[in-house]
Amino acid sequence: MRDFEFLEPADVAEASRMLAAHGEDCRAYAGGTALLLALRQRLVAPTHLVSLGRIPALSGVRFDAAAGLRIGALTRHAELAAAPEVLRHYPMLAGMAAHLANPQVRNQGTLGGNLCYADPATDPPTCLLGLDAEVEIASARGTRRLPIGDFFVDYYTTALAPDEILVAVHVPPPAADAIGRYTRFLRTPAEHRPLVNVAVTARRSGGAATAVRVAVGASTPIPARVPRAEALLEGRAVTAELAAAAAAAAADDIFAVSDGRGDEAYRRAMVRVVLRRTLAALFDLPGE
Ligand SMILES: Cc1cc2nc3c(=O)[nH]c(=O)nc-3n(C[C@H](O)[C@H](O)[C@H](O)COP(=O)(O)OP(=O)(O)OC[C@H]3O[C@@H](n4cnc5c(N)ncnc54)[C@H](O)[C@@H]3O)c2cc1C
Repeated sequence: MRDFEFLEPADVAEASRMLAAHGEDCRAYAGGTALLLALRQRLVAPTHLVSLGRIPALSGVRFDAAAGLRIGALTRHAELAAAPEVLRHYPMLAGMAAHLANPQVRNQGTLGGNLCYADPATDPPTCLLGLDAEVEIASARGTRRLPIGDFFVDYYTTALAPDEILVAVHVPPPAADAIGRYTRFLRTPAEHRPLVNVAVTARRSGGAATAVRVAVGASTPIPARVPRAEALLEGRAVTAELAAAAAAAAADDIFAVSDGRGDEAYRRAMVRVVLRRTLAALFDLPGE
């Protein structure tokens, strides 16, 4: 591993100026779980690392009934899983964070680092897309917010400019009748990373599902909503037949990747099964 300077800015503007000054030779550093592997494998060789650990604005999990949830980018997966306000108001999100990776990664890796690395085979992006989350991004030039669906651009590529930092993730307040379910499918129990994941959220008013969101990831370069599946379910009482039709539409419509962990046909087949089962569990359907 090449030697590097470890910089510890006190606020976002200072960190941003450091990133801008050193350009391609510089990386932000949060928990280090992804970055240290990349350094050891010589995929990157920065001369400067900008540690985010001393920037207070990036910490903390806060819930407000009107504004919803604010998760600081430095929040570790294990903290998110155990935060009382997340367990109470966003059980789908807490459950996702409790089961990703392994205990070492959950205790060291941050939510911000996970999103900024934009590895497709991860859990939070799909779950947060299903929850309509937004990201708060800042630099010395100012602050902006983006829907999380616009944050992911391609494999390992986000909408962050080189001098920008992910500050926080915002999740809107849940409706009183909100329901949701996140499922990760592993190819073998020994693997930590999902081969396919889906998040479904809706409001259950009377017998019908409304405000339906269906997000699919891990088998796609970036997580994606599936409008045809959502339209099939919207405003309807979800039956086993409807769930099967929505799952088939999602499997057809996604941009499925092919690689050593699974070819395109296998991934589409798993999306169909995983989504059908997720809908069955969410809407108390028989059979799954
Ligand atoms: C063995 C293993 C198994 C894993 N399994 C899973 C899994 O099952 N599911 C899953 O979702 N993930 C999994 N991961 C990924 C893990 O969640 C991420 O490695 C972790 O969350 C990254 O966070 P970090 O704080 O360590 O990031 P770092 O390694 O510090 O940084 C990662 C990247 O993000 C950039 N960055 C970090 N924070 C910011 C910020 N606030 N603003 C701008 N840029 C930033 C860094 O410059 C770097 O490029 C696994 C990782 C390992 C090593």
